[in-house]
Amino acid sequence: MEIKIDPDKCIGCGTCAAIAPGSFKMNDETNKAEVINPVTDSEETTKMGAESCPTAAIVIE
Ligand code: SF4
Repeated sequence: MEIKIDPDKCIGCGTCAAIAPGSFKMNDETNKAEVINPVTDSEETTKMGAESCPTAAIVIE
């Protein structure tokens, strides 16, 4: 599973990190989300976090 976040689409809302804190974290300097490596959430939780993004900035392949 490869997870990518488009920084141009990320508006820094923090929803992904709130729903899937083992997959996504906020960068305090850029106010953009980043993928946690390694991801500690279940695949289902990661997908829920990705799908929660209001701008569809997160792509899972
Ligand atoms: S939910 Fe989307 S817009 Fe919000 S912080 Fe995460 S990647 Fe950025």
